[in-house]
Amino acid sequence: MSATKAFGLAGIIGWPVAHSRSPVVHNHWLAEHGLPGSYVLLPVLPERLPAALAGLVALGFRGCNVTTPHKQAVMPLIEHVDPMAVRIGAVNTIVVQDDGSLRGFNNDGNGFVQGLRDVKPDWRPDDGPIVVVGAGGAARAIVVALAAQGAREIRLVNRTHEKAQKLAADLGPPIAAVRWEERGEALRGVATLINATTQGSAGKPPLDLPLDALSRDAIVGDAIYVPPETPLLAAARARGNLTANGLGMLLNQARPAFEAWFGVMPSITPALRRAVEATF
Ligand code: NAP
Repeated sequence: MSATKAFGLAGIIGWPVAHSRSPVVHNHWLAEHGLPGSYVLLPVLPERLPAALAGLVALGFRGCNVTTPHKQAVMPLIEHVDPMAVRIGAVNTIVVQDDGSLRGFNNDGNGFVQGLRDVKPDWRPDDGPIVVVGAGGAARAIVVALAAQGAREIRLVNRTHEKAQKLAADLGPPIAAVRWEERGEALRGVATLINATTQGSAGKPPLDLPLDALSRDAIVGDAIYVPPETPLLAAARARGNLTANGLGMLLNQARPAFEAWFGVMPSITPALRRAVEATF
């Protein structure tokens, strides 16, 4: 039976995992394409991760997404890790191969970059310098993708400067760490500003970043999608900048995963966006 016709199972492994919107996304696509299958939440305790991965194969899953706290921990437990996932240092998607081995990749960074293009189709990573604020997992995925897609200068700003320095040292040019105190001035001349911190997400204070030096031609992206418009994006929009929230990252990272599991490259439609936004 072809992969697209047999009942297909996939899910998301995390702890906790109940907050994930991925089931809404993948189950929407399964229904849209008339594919028999289901995408389920898989709460997995850290100590059960090896057993859970073996269980994927035993239970006939096509694969799974991986979220906190397992994104790094799965890497030594799977047979093939895609080079971009190695560079990011984390896997967010696992595909069960025909021979029962596991292949891991990471679409988060490319998903974010595509989210910028969805808002500004002629956007290019080499349009000008890029400022990325944050040095955690999301920032790392985003800067790796930006560099791989041709960015020439990425100014990495993080509250804890040592973490930005370490990331810049690990990844090398075009990434350079800039001190937190210089974050406002670092915006001068940039074509793209990206927030990859937790600041501005629901229940957290806004990102503390004065935008005065930012050109109104710059696009401003945020990895956050709850709320759909962070205070940073609201301030940027009010002064005339184009903005992109993190929903594009979530949806675009999911597309190649769905294709790998279910054999169809799905689209991001207004109906899909509405289905996810209904969960906010
Ligand atoms: P993380 O690894 O915990 O990193 C958190 C980052 O936020 C660090 O750079 C941290 O700086 C910074 N930060 C925390 N509190 C701060 C403060 N008071 N002032 C300034 N900076 C502060 O988190 P993550 O996994 O990278 O996630 C970052 C954001 O991206 C989250 O809001 C997450 O929801 C979002 N995200 C979205 C998607 C998507 O699909 N759209 C995917 C992944 C993540 P320090 O190093 O100084 O602590």
